[in-house]
Amino acid sequence: MSTNFSSLRSARATALAKLNDEIKKENTKQGADERFWKLGVDQKTKVGYARLRFLPAPTGEDVPWQRVFSHAFKLNSGWFIENCPTTLGQRPCPVCEANSKLWNGPGADKDGSQDVARERKRKLQYFCNVLIIEDPAHKENEGKVFLFKYGKKIQEKVQELCNPQFPDQIPTNPFDFWEGADFKLKAQQKDGYQNYDKSEFAEPKELFPGDDKAKEAIWEKQYSLTAFVAEDQFKNYDVIETRFLKVITGAGNDSPKTAADAIKRDAATPEDAKKLAASIDADVDAREEKKVRKTRTKKDATPAEQEAAGTAESYAAATDVPEDEDAIKSFFGEMLDEN
Ligand SMILES: [Zn+2]
Repeated sequence: MSTNFSSLRSARATALAKLNDEIKKENTKQGADERFWKLGVDQKTKVGYARLRFLPAPTGEDVPWQRVFSHAFKLNSGWFIENCPTTLGQRPCPVCEANSKLWNGPGADKDGSQDVARERKRKLQYFCNVLIIEDPAHKENEGKVFLFKYGKKIQEKVQELCNPQFPDQIPTNPFDFWEGADFKLKAQQKDGYQNYDKSEFAEPKELFPGDDKAKEAIWEKQYSLTAFVAEDQFKNYDVIETRFLKVITGAGNDSPKTAADAIKRDAATPEDAKKLAASIDADVDAREEKKVRKTRTKKDATPAEQEAAGTAESYAAATDVPEDEDAIKSFFGEMLDEN
């Protein structure tokens, strides 16, 4: 963000890189977002280690991290994953409202309502830029700038360094190029969740001592953090409420949007796809199709149609869970653990 004309002029060098970041973001919406770094963990021991450097606020921004509340939970009908509008201040959130009713209802502490509310509560996540110093699991990441998403526990360690509890420690800004400190991220498995208790900051040390050009080159590669709280990151109240009600009433939330999508799902064998294609108009919305199937009596459908409809239903069931379920579970599980 240029705040005056001369900074617009001087920012031209990085403008193209930023545009390319945006393009990358567009292209990665469907798959894993390559702007993010993730800790590699040993499959057997579940232990992971990396050394990273938290980086200063990016160009035109004031804070080196961005906090975002979100809801993420799974019911039989599928996952509900949405950013919580309360992130943006006093905005109402249908899920938080339902939670407070559940939490405060008569007998809520005995009938399990509070457990349900706990499961669905908003979780805090933070975003920042990091330079990967050491990544034994993925050497190719070393020396590169990534976005890093983390939870409350790591943020507590950041805050403890900024504002130490005990007088024997000097307040240190870990995000500072000159006086900051590397972070040794250490993960282990605890009670079924990834746990970061053993992570710690190294002694404060200048990044690239005496070489401000190298620091600047890193700074220019950083990603915007305020982008995570832009309007387009939050759905409006009614849309969130509709999705929420669908998930809690078991109507499913991630059914293929169109029959064509359903056919494309890789769970399909070529034969299944052919049968589906024959019985479902590719332009018909899958949800409309479901309604049609429900109202149609069995004797109206040919055996082939019945079979095809059954296949469509099993697609919907199989695809309710996002592909990256393990990653989501482990990330949000970690935050559940931290809260
Ligand atoms: Zn909420």
